[in-house]
Amino acid sequence: MGGKINYNSLLEDLIIEKDKITGVVINGENISAEIVVLAIGHSARDTFKMLLDNHLNLEAKPFAIGIRIVHPQSLIDKNQYPKLYKSLPPAAYKLTYTSDDHRGVYSFCMCPGGYVVNASSEYGGVVTNGMSNYQRDSGFANSAIIVTVSKKDFGDYPLAGLNFMEQIERNTYQLTQGKMAIQTFKDYESNRVSPTISNVDDYAKGLTCPIDINKIFPSYINSALKDGINYFDTKISGFKEGIILAPETRTSSPVRIIRNENSESNILGVYPCVEGSGYAGGITTSAIDGIKVAEEIAKKYSNVI
Ligand SMILES: Cc1cc2nc3c(=O)[nH]c(=O)nc-3n(C[C@H](O)[C@H](O)[C@H](O)COP(=O)(O)OP(=O)(O)OC[C@H]3O[C@@H](n4cnc5c(N)ncnc54)[C@H](O)[C@@H]3O)c2cc1C
Repeated sequence: MGGKINYNSLLEDLIIEKDKITGVVINGENISAEIVVLAIGHSARDTFKMLLDNHLNLEAKPFAIGIRIVHPQSLIDKNQYPKLYKSLPPAAYKLTYTSDDHRGVYSFCMCPGGYVVNASSEYGGVVTNGMSNYQRDSGFANSAIIVTVSKKDFGDYPLAGLNFMEQIERNTYQLTQGKMAIQTFKDYESNRVSPTISNVDDYAKGLTCPIDINKIFPSYINSALKDGINYFDTKISGFKEGIILAPETRTSSPVRIIRNENSESNILGVYPCVEGSGYAGGITTSAIDGIKVAEEIAKKYSNVI
């Protein structure tokens, strides 16, 4: 149909006339457009700033930050499948807790038989994430354990949550020279740097640096994590024997690009979409939101066809 896909191309700017999109600037080239779908992911910090400069309505939204915790997969299997654990697939878990100051503390993106990965996307910051290969056979389980944070922690400015997240990632980079921070949970509780931890390559992809992870986060995050993990130990015996890697910050977008019931932003023709715009978290909900936005755009043209 004469469409063109520009790979490796940066959306640098929007061209707006009277609150309506008329085009975009991609790699320095002006391209006219009456519809622009923003599916930019939650890490496009330069693009969020560009959108704010173009007067798109953005707001800070709650998200969650914390650590990754690693256990031998056999410990999780024995707890989850008291019998027959050797003949069943590597087990997963989901754990939740509410801290004394009413924050949600929960497991997220649990990876049976997987690896903790250094998923940093920009110079000067460190971010962890987790993944499993298809066979789930690393012999180690890992999961994010995260604590909710909101505007009352970082303020009202639309990019305040993004700045808060970035600060933690940069703070870690300074302390670890760009490596993932590592500590046993026991040492984290005692504010003590762990001595060298052996065989890290068995469950971590990327270099690690032993530091006191308490130094990365505000104190309310540290205490919520410690209380939560101690509570999780009552559900999965041995949970607090885990090794933690940090920081896990990119669990969802810290920004929402406000859209109306037709999925359109305050700039007509611009459709904020999926995770980065604050309407999805993870692959499946992002895919579903993408379909929803495509249907809204199709409706707009239904009289034309
Ligand atoms: C290591 C890892 C493991 C994960 N595991 C899982 C999992 O098991 N299950 C799960 O559900 N989710 C998982 N996720 C999360 C999942 O990847 C995201 O939820 C999903 O990719 C979000 O989709 P999206 O389309 O909103 O954004 P993205 O996939 O982030 O895509 C956004 C794209 O927009 C591009 N972009 C941004 N700004 C611009 C611009 N100005 N111009 C041009 N292009 C731009 C970016 O480069 C990027 O390619 C994982 C993530 C990581 C990092």
